[in-house]
Amino acid sequence: MNNKYDVVVVGGGHAGVEAAHAVYRSGLSCALVSFSYETIGQMSCNPAIGGLGKSHLVREVDAMGGIMAQATDMSGIQYRTLNTRKGNSVQALRAQCDRELYKKAIQDTLKLTDIEIIEGEVIDLLSNKESVFGVLLADNTEVRGKKTILTTGTFLNGIMYTGQDKIQGGRVGESAAIPLSRKLYSLNLPMGRLKTGTPARIKMSSLDLGLMEEQKGETPTPWMALSEHPTEHQKQLSCYITRTNKNTHKIIKKNIHLSAMYSGNISGIGPRYCPSIEDKVVRFGGQRQPPNIYRARGHKQRPGIPKRHLNQPAQRQHKKTLYTQLLGMENSSDRGIRLCG
Ligand SMILES: Cc1cc2nc3c(=O)[nH]c(=O)nc-3n(C[C@H](O)[C@H](O)[C@H](O)COP(=O)(O)OP(=O)(O)OC[C@H]3O[C@@H](n4cnc5c(N)ncnc54)[C@H](O)[C@@H]3O)c2cc1C
Repeated sequence: MNNKYDVVVVGGGHAGVEAAHAVYRSGLSCALVSFSYETIGQMSCNPAIGGLGKSHLVREVDAMGGIMAQATDMSGIQYRTLNTRKGNSVQALRAQCDRELYKKAIQDTLKLTDIEIIEGEVIDLLSNKESVFGVLLADNTEVRGKKTILTTGTFLNGIMYTGQDKIQGGRVGESAAIPLSRKLYSLNLPMGRLKTGTPARIKMSSLDLGLMEEQKGETPTPWMALSEHPTEHQKQLSCYITRTNKNTHKIIKKNIHLSAMYSGNISGIGPRYCPSIEDKVVRFGGQRQPPNIYRARGHKQRPGIPKRHLNQPAQRQHKKTLYTQLLGMENSSDRGIRLCG
C-alpha cells in the first residue's frame, strides 16, 4: 500500500464514492478507506434514488461526471416522475433500485479506476496545528494524504431507536464510529446531530397483493442519467398501495407514549422533516388515510417495504400489530415482518 496520496476519503457510501471518483477524474491519487469492502456502495434503507428535492442533485452530480445516476440506470427496477400534475420545475424523477445491483454497479465502476480501497476503521486524524495530513486506522496503520475528506454518513456516534429500545450502531448490523466521533468532538468544531427513519421490511409472500392497488412504473421507462446509460433497463417491477384505517389509527394513538419521537427519546429533527405515520395521525387526528406503498428492494431480495409514512420508530409489538391491520396484510405473521435492516 502506497500510504501517501493526494486525497484520503473516509467512507464508502454515496458521498465517499463520488468524492473518490471525482479525485480520480482529476488525475490525482486517492485512497478510499471504509469499514468493509463489502458495504461500499451500499444503499442504507429504501433503495431509491432521486425524488423530490433530490433528483436535481443526482443529475447535477451526473452532469459533473459522477457515477450515482449511471449506477441507478444499471439497477433501476421502477421509475416514476413525481408531481406530474404540477409544473415542470417541481417535477422529479424517482427510481427504485435493486439494492444488490446498485452496489455491484458502484463497485464495478471503482474497479475501473486506480482508487486504492483500504478496509479498516479510521479512529483518528493525523494532524498538526496547521492541517490534517491523513488518518490513523484501528490497526495502527497511518494513511497519509495532502487532503482528507470525511463522508461518514450516519456512523458518527450513531444511535438506533426502535420505540424505547436504543442501541449504538451505524446501520443495522454495523458498528458506529465512536473513536472518530470522540476525536471530532475534542476539536470543538461546530457540531449538530441529524436523524433519519426507516420502515420495516415485509416478506412479499406475506402480502395479499390482489387486495392492494398496483402502481406500475412509468412507460416508456425514463433514464436517470443524462450522460450515458445502458442499452436496456432491468426488468421493471410494480409497487403496491394500501391505506391506513380506523383500526391502525386507534393502535397508533393508544401506543403513542411508546414512540421514540413522542416519548422525548429522540430530540434531533432532520433538516428535511420526514413525517411518520404517527405524526400524520397526531396532526390530522386520523382524518386522513395516508397511503402505505410497498416497494421491492430488488429482484432476488424481495421483501416489500412499506414506505411513505410507516417509518415510525415505534415499539416492535405495536408495529407488528399495526401492520396486520392493513388491507392486504391481514395474514402476515411475525415471521413475515423484519424491523429495520
Ligand atoms: C436506517 C436508515 C434509513 C435511511 N433512510 C433514508 C431514506 O429513506 N432516504 C434517504 O435519502 N436517506 C436515508 N438514510 C440516510 C442515508 O444514510 C443517506 O441517504 C446516505 O446513505 C448517506 O450517504 P453517505 O455517503 O453520506 O453515508 P453512508 O451511506 O452512511 O456511508 C458512510 C460510510 O462511511 C463508512 N464509515 C463511517 N465511519 C467510518 C470510520 N470511522 N472508518 C471507516 N469507515 C467509516 C461506513 O462504513 C460507510 O461505508 C437512511 C439512513 C439509515 C441509517
